[in-house]
Amino acid sequence: MSDATTGLNPAFAQIDSLQLNGGPLIICDVDEVVLHFIEPLEKRMARLGMEFIDTRYRLTGNIRHAATQDLASYEEVYDLLHGFFDDPDLHQEPVPGASRALAELSRTAQVIMLTNMPARFQKDRERVLASHGVPYPVIVNEGAKGPAVSRLAERIDGPIIFLDDSPSNLVSVRDAVNHAHIIQFIADPRFFATAEIVDGAKLTSNCWDETHRFIQGILSEHMATR
Ligand SMILES: [Mg+2]
Repeated sequence: MSDATTGLNPAFAQIDSLQLNGGPLIICDVDEVVLHFIEPLEKRMARLGMEFIDTRYRLTGNIRHAATQDLASYEEVYDLLHGFFDDPDLHQEPVPGASRALAELSRTAQVIMLTNMPARFQKDRERVLASHGVPYPVIVNEGAKGPAVSRLAERIDGPIIFLDDSPSNLVSVRDAVNHAHIIQFIADPRFFATAEIVDGAKLTSNCWDETHRFIQGILSEHMATR
């Protein structure tokens, strides 16, 4: 989605002001990768009389009103998500192992978080993540993530590792940055169990220990060939 006045993705200005060292870069999504998202969203949905239809990996078209079984509209899903992030009592549990893995990997790679949400949530996301031991810059993006990752890639010589739970984000980055290592990470065990593996994903996982080892392997191989 573009800024109406400049035609630029709002993530670009944030990306351009980032200090990057040009070395290996880990670009990590937040919701359902580092913080649990589906479970607290379901709790909010239950309070509003809504439920998932099944564990297909989508929001619009997969949420209904429990009483009537009527599909929630796009506008209702939009309001649900904005209400979720606006809730002052929102609590999202950290995904086990994420903080430790990223801390260890950050010794050899730069880590940034790339999350899709309106820019007004950016400072709050950084604060919440830092409180869970994830103190990396947060870039807020809207729409496909490929353009943002492509802009980052222009300034990186080393490997680029991209983690996300959303198939559309993974596909967008896979197609925009051919050399990026794409990791499909889905913390929720039910949605993980039924997820379709995204074509081109180098790893599909719901375990940060496994993901840590996989990324470390990419970084070690890079270091060995320098
Ligand atoms: Mg996500």
